Amino acid sequence: MIYKNLIFVVTEKCNITCDFCGPNCSPDRKEFLDSAFMINQWKQFLEFALPTLVVFTGGEPFLYLDDVIETINKIKKDKPLTIIRIVSNGFWASSKARADQIVKRLKDAGVDELNFSVDDFHQKFISIDTIKNAVNSSLECGIYTLLAHKTFPKANNTISYYEKELERKIVDYRLCSRDDAKNGQLVHSSSNTIPIGRGSDSIEYEQWVDHPHFINSWKGPCDQVLKSIVIGADKKISPCCGLVERELKMFHHGNLVKDSLQVNIEAANISAIYNWLALEGPSSIKEMLAEKFPTYKFKERYVQNCHLCQEIFSNPVFCAAVKDDLIQNKTALLFKRSLHEAKRAADEA
Ligand code: SF4
Ligand code: SF4
Repeated sequence: MIYKNLIFVVTEKCNITCDFCGPNCSPDRKEFLDSAFMINQWKQFLEFALPTLVVFTGGEPFLYLDDVIETINKIKKDKPLTIIRIVSNGFWASSKARADQIVKRLKDAGVDELNFSVDDFHQKFISIDTIKNAVNSSLECGIYTLLAHKTFPKANNTISYYEKELERKIVDYRLCSRDDAKNGQLVHSSSNTIPIGRGSDSIEYEQWVDHPHFINSWKGPCDQVLKSIVIGADKKISPCCGLVERELKMFHHGNLVKDSLQVNIEAANISAIYNWLALEGPSSIKEMLAEKFPTYKFKERYVQNCHLCQEIFSNPVFCAAVKDDLIQNKTALLFKRSLHEAKRAADEA
């Protein structure tokens, strides 16, 4: 398998405490990755990967901006064409002058993309004027600028709201060429908030899934797991950028302080659970569990497959049952996975 994407969860710390936050980030969290650690992982990544994209996310990665920029300098020196993306809530753009100053620093370091997380929850703490400063500075500097917009039942802050407040048209990123976006077109990605983590109980469950789309949106293989290398702020790797609570042990693998990146990746690649998720998704695991635990009432609808992963892997009894099942089926699963990878490699060739 050829890896192309490397994702650093720079920190779980955040400058704000949104009412809703899947990973439960807040100013009280301590974990973060410094530049020495990130550069070391990057160097190891170069030994076996073909880098295309490196993402810095959190928490709020701008809380450790010096470390992020030092790492970007190294990446751009080694591989100038690697796309660098940072995901932020934009808090640092408190005035246009300050936004200009920071964005220039980012541009000089070689940042290609800025993604700003926006929705009702974020805008309770980060003013729309701050987002406007961040977006305007970023676009003026020729940086690909995207609003990572989340929606949820009865949300007020729709894309139309942002178009009105930011006084510009915002296009779905899938409908916009990269050149247009770099030439000043603001783009957005919109997806559903998944009811996981802090604040998710504040909305009735039925409201979250009150749309026919949610009958099937969570079924089938997971196309994210084992695709990118995700390095968590706890210096472990994750098999995916899944939207499950960061406390779920199943999604934190190995130890990058003790073993090399490659050793950790190889171990993740032969993990039977990760391979099961990649081949058949959590809906298949749910079927097995439903047979074993006929009195447990699984929900009929989920917002997305990660939502079901959260339900399964936050339940210790289910985790034990999955482990038992895998003891019997591991060899067959790994064989199936190697066929799947061979087909994918042939398709890509
Ligand atoms: S949702 Fe984003 S901005 Fe809000 S607390 Fe969590 S990480 Fe911070
Ligand atoms: S469905 Fe599960 S394995 Fe896939 S991205 Fe979501 S949390 Fe990760």
